[in-house]
Amino acid sequence: MSERKIQLKGRVFITFDIEARTGLHIGGSDAGVEIGGVDKTVIRDKLTNRPYIPGSSLKGKMRSLLEKYKGLKQNQRIGQGYIHSCGAEYKGEELKTKGRKEYEDCDVCQVFGVPGERDFSTPTRLVVRDTFLSEESAKKLEDAQTDLPYTEVKTEVSIDRVTSAANPRQMERVPAGAVFEKAEMVFSLYEGEGCSAQKDLERLGVLLEAMQLVEDDYIGGLGSRGSGKVAFTNIQVFFRKDPSQPSQPLNPQPFQNLAEFAAAFDGLKKQIAL
Ligand SMILES: [Zn+2]
Repeated sequence: MSERKIQLKGRVFITFDIEARTGLHIGGSDAGVEIGGVDKTVIRDKLTNRPYIPGSSLKGKMRSLLEKYKGLKQNQRIGQGYIHSCGAEYKGEELKTKGRKEYEDCDVCQVFGVPGERDFSTPTRLVVRDTFLSEESAKKLEDAQTDLPYTEVKTEVSIDRVTSAANPRQMERVPAGAVFEKAEMVFSLYEGEGCSAQKDLERLGVLLEAMQLVEDDYIGGLGSRGSGKVAFTNIQVFFRKDPSQPSQPLNPQPFQNLAEFAAAFDGLKKQIAL
């Protein structure tokens, strides 16, 4: 392992709310838990029992949509499927030359990370935090007396292709209209071996692309059946260069949607002095 010097030059914070435009099903652990006869439950915060959106779910969806949008090769086997991971198909010398070169030019692996350690990998730039139901939405859902606390139960019928038998399943969803607030993405800018803070700043555009791809797609399960459409609202961007100083909002007035964010994007980047 060679010794490397990498320095943090600043962090960009993007905060926003996530509005469920259709029912949202982000699966929890169904292992041995029987809740009201529901087959597929949603993930809940252990302390409040409220549904939430894990940062890993949002980050994973952003990544997989970007991989398809950019046409990246799916070269690493994970469980049933394949994902993209620079260098996964190389060994030895090829990994050091071809793998490293591909990684250096790959915005997705730089921003979202590569699974497992590679000699050439630099710090993952992006952190996506868990996002919780807003107090206002929680109150509304409590008053609405939904099927289960904060959620509705939807019956989905799947047809067995062999026997043609209908197979109804009970799916739990957070109802349309619910708002998850103060989502946060933290994007770090690094300078040093294999890193360029200026390049990282350019890579910020990948996050905007990913957010648009997610809005056009869905998060969680049952997307092809209409669940999981979300909208990003109340978007604000902050920059912090010096950890001893408060972060500065680059847009004091939050953007109400992605279109406003996109229109202001280049101007925001110019405000970031490295
Ligand atoms: Zn890659």
